[in-house]
Amino acid sequence: MKVGIPKGLLYYKYKPFFNTFFEELGAEIIESPDTNKDILDLGSTLCTDEACLPIKVFHGHVEKIKDKCDLILIPRIMQIYKREFICPKFCGIPEMIENNIEDLPIITKAPIYLFSSDKFFKWAYETGKILTKNFFKIQKAFERAQNEQKKFKEGINDKGYALKVALIGHTYNIYDTFINMNVKNKLNKLGVGVITHEVVDDNVKYLEIKKLFKRPFWTFAREYYGFISYALKESLIDGIVYLSSFACGIDSVIVELIKLDFENVPFLLLKIDEHTGEAGFDTRIEAFVDMLSRRKRGNLA
Ligand code: SF4
Repeated sequence: MKVGIPKGLLYYKYKPFFNTFFEELGAEIIESPDTNKDILDLGSTLCTDEACLPIKVFHGHVEKIKDKCDLILIPRIMQIYKREFICPKFCGIPEMIENNIEDLPIITKAPIYLFSSDKFFKWAYETGKILTKNFFKIQKAFERAQNEQKKFKEGINDKGYALKVALIGHTYNIYDTFINMNVKNKLNKLGVGVITHEVVDDNVKYLEIKKLFKRPFWTFAREYYGFISYALKESLIDGIVYLSSFACGIDSVIVELIKLDFENVPFLLLKIDEHTGEAGFDTRIEAFVDMLSRRKRGNLA
């Protein structure tokens, strides 16, 4: 069986798990290409205008591979951690894809709860039985895939730069260099290193959010807020660059929370959508870096 894996949404985070799982079940993996203009245009045409850019891009990835495979992974991720949720768009992504794209092969629809191995195995079983009737084979594939995922080290932590910024944003915005116009590279070329939230342990982030009136409902909010709070306390960063998807409700809450609680910290909000022009993007980054440098020189004087 040929299994299609669209390179969008949380692909960058869970690729080791999903690829291993399907390979262990004997499938041939067909990954979509890296995001490009064609995929973006396809996604923008197929998807409703109101959706955020990553959802549109995901549509483009599915359209690109749908005729080459027998099954496509559409990860309906409901929860990553207990008592927290991710975006509602993840919960409804199979329905969005089904309604917007015609002539699809089989798509995966079972919900994914990552915080519990038993609940996660339910997804594996529901999905795995499309490929094999052998329960033990599914169980073994699931265990191997979990082991591969555990070995995967995420995050960026540049060393040797005079200035350093926290690069905040969803995995699919940070690691998709087409979507973000290679923002890390742009910062590095201007002499600015980057650190992302994954390099700080989850337990540390949990401790940091205790100062909030209420534990954040959204996993992304806890991760980004907790990381920034810790990074500032430990003087790891000179500023914050937030890469946000236009029309992302979750980002709009997190951005305000960060601006409110860390108001004296240099903050650059870069909103991205299908119309974002690279020239304007570059100008804003350059102006921000210039301000960071002057601020640092001022502090040293
Ligand atoms: S979290 Fe924001 S960017 Fe991500 S899918 Fe949801 S709305 Fe889109």
